[in-house]
Amino acid sequence: MERVDFLVIGAGIAGASAGCELAAFGRVVVLEREERAGYHSTGRSAALYTQTYGPPVVRALTVASRPFFDDPPAGFAGHPLLTPRGVLLVGRADQSAALDAAFAQARRLTPSVSRLDADETAARAPWLRPGYAAGAVAEPEAMDIDVHALHAGYLRRLKAHGGRLVTDAGVHALHRRAGQWEAETAAGRFAAPVVINAAGAWADRVAALAGARPLGVVPKRRTAVVFDPAFPAGEAGTMATIASWPMVVDVDERFYAKPDAGRLLASPADETPVEPCDVQPEEWDVAVAVERVEEAARFAVRRIAHRWAGLRSFVADKVPVAGFDPDADGFFWLAGQGGYGIQTAPALSRTAAALATGGAIPDDVAALGVTAGDLAPARLVREAKEPMP
Ligand SMILES: Cc1cc2nc3c(=O)[nH]c(=O)nc-3n(C[C@H](O)[C@H](O)[C@H](O)COP(=O)(O)OP(=O)(O)OC[C@H]3O[C@@H](n4cnc5c(N)ncnc54)[C@H](O)[C@@H]3O)c2cc1C
Repeated sequence: MERVDFLVIGAGIAGASAGCELAAFGRVVVLEREERAGYHSTGRSAALYTQTYGPPVVRALTVASRPFFDDPPAGFAGHPLLTPRGVLLVGRADQSAALDAAFAQARRLTPSVSRLDADETAARAPWLRPGYAAGAVAEPEAMDIDVHALHAGYLRRLKAHGGRLVTDAGVHALHRRAGQWEAETAAGRFAAPVVINAAGAWADRVAALAGARPLGVVPKRRTAVVFDPAFPAGEAGTMATIASWPMVVDVDERFYAKPDAGRLLASPADETPVEPCDVQPEEWDVAVAVERVEEAARFAVRRIAHRWAGLRSFVADKVPVAGFDPDADGFFWLAGQGGYGIQTAPALSRTAAALATGGAIPDDVAALGVTAGDLAPARLVREAKEPMP
């Protein structure tokens, strides 16, 4: 039995980043069921950093993560983690009220957002059908994230601080004995006083192994397709500018499209609840992606080059969970990162490491209004215990 200070279950972005931050406090082992880290949600994202997405706590964690992305520790990555992209939240005339509401909410934390009229929107997103968009909210500081570099950087730094990643090490049993969690895995037995549950879509399953109450973590399938847009004859030149286009997101999140290595990546923004699994795209969702993007676009989608699906796992209030379970000693939750687990990882992992070692929320995160109560699993257990009205 290998004994350490912290066992982290799951080596996606949550487990890798939290493991790295915890390595400053003690010996860490990160246990991953797959043969490589990042196979599930972390390797399947749209790789966007945007401050105008998600509930207020998520926006605050995203803002608090920006300094790390801009200036990571020396040697963390060989090139910048972020590159400029920009986002346009677009709306038709019947969606103007939604655009106004999105603008009002976004400017509270991100003063650089602006409201665009129809002509300005068309000029910035030249692939939209003339007359489609009545306006947009522009977020110029939204960025593409090099997810692989971020994830690999955390794992490298974990190792540099004496931590260890063990792959092919699915945890199938967890027992509390004499103040220690003992984990049985295919790669051997490990023990630590504190376990970090960073199992993504499987977070409730891991809690069940520990005898902890589930928090209602619901994995939701999201589909992505990549294609070469086919413009009408005479407009092929439009493609030459593709790398500079901003991401376009329907203000009601019915679809989005984003340049991706010379092609376009699009999603119908589906959110279908499924059991945790190695999720695959459904033909129906691929067809809906194409239909919704073509409705807005001047191009046609003739052939899909690449398609995939991933799981975005949420609890009821769509705010991530970071905190000790109220009933299971030494069992720490780091789950429910939904559609923003990459962009919030720097601040959320620092926060998780502070809370898991008995500290307070880091000052910069607290200054943005995030409290331990906002993230605590107890908020969800309480909800579950309260009688229905
Ligand atoms: C299509 C799509 C687009 C997205 N776009 C963005 C975006 O633009 N920006 C953004 O910030 N976020 C985005 N996300 C969300 C982001 O990908 C997730 O929030 C994030 O990857 C979650 O990380 P995680 O580490 O919690 O989960 P995962 O990466 O799924 O990691 C969990 C790990 O736990 C392991 N595990 C489970 N059970 C066990 C066990 N019993 N023993 C050992 N290991 C176990 C799994 O094998 C897995 O590797 C997107 C997601 C999808 C699907």
